[in-house]
Amino acid sequence: MTRCPGCGTEKADEDFYRNRSSRSGLSNYCKKCTRIKNQLWVQANLEKIKKWHAEYYQTHKLNYKMRSRAYALTEKDKNRRRAYRVRNIEKVRIWGRIYRAKHLEKTRTQRSAYYKRHREQLRIKAKLKRSKDRDRTGNWYINQLMNQALSSKGVKFPDELINLYRAQIMLQRKAKSLQEALNGSGCVGKS
Ligand SMILES: [Zn+2]
Repeated sequence: MTRCPGCGTEKADEDFYRNRSSRSGLSNYCKKCTRIKNQLWVQANLEKIKKWHAEYYQTHKLNYKMRSRAYALTEKDKNRRRAYRVRNIEKVRIWGRIYRAKHLEKTRTQRSAYYKRHREQLRIKAKLKRSKDRDRTGNWYINQLMNQALSSKGVKFPDELINLYRAQIMLQRKAKSLQEALNGSGCVGKS
């Protein structure tokens, strides 16, 4: 049994932390008093501790960054983040909105760079969408479909080919609508 000078009570050895630098091999103060003393010390030196942490971070910043970057490149982390985005789609959308509002200038340059890079594709996409709602048999539209089917870009096909492809497309559409009409009228299955 040892007497703690903090609380003045006699306590068993297991109530004291070990301390190799002391003669008894145990800390002078009991565990409870040691904890209180430590807490008081932290409270009294809060600013100093914060400064130490900040300094430590500054000198080890590069290590932290490299480590997190290396981890971010792993397939595991990519999948983890992808899964997170799928699970929290609404949250991510809102965060994106907040981020873009905070970084207006950056967002603007990134966007315009994206548009510049994909100008042609975006233009065609918009035109396709517009013509899809109106006329899906025009020469321009059929020409685009042919480019898509052949994975070519901006090829201008001769009119005879366009006419042939148009006939084929219209046949396909006719067949599809017939099929849909059949399914819709409840004649599905063997008869
Ligand atoms: Zn004590």
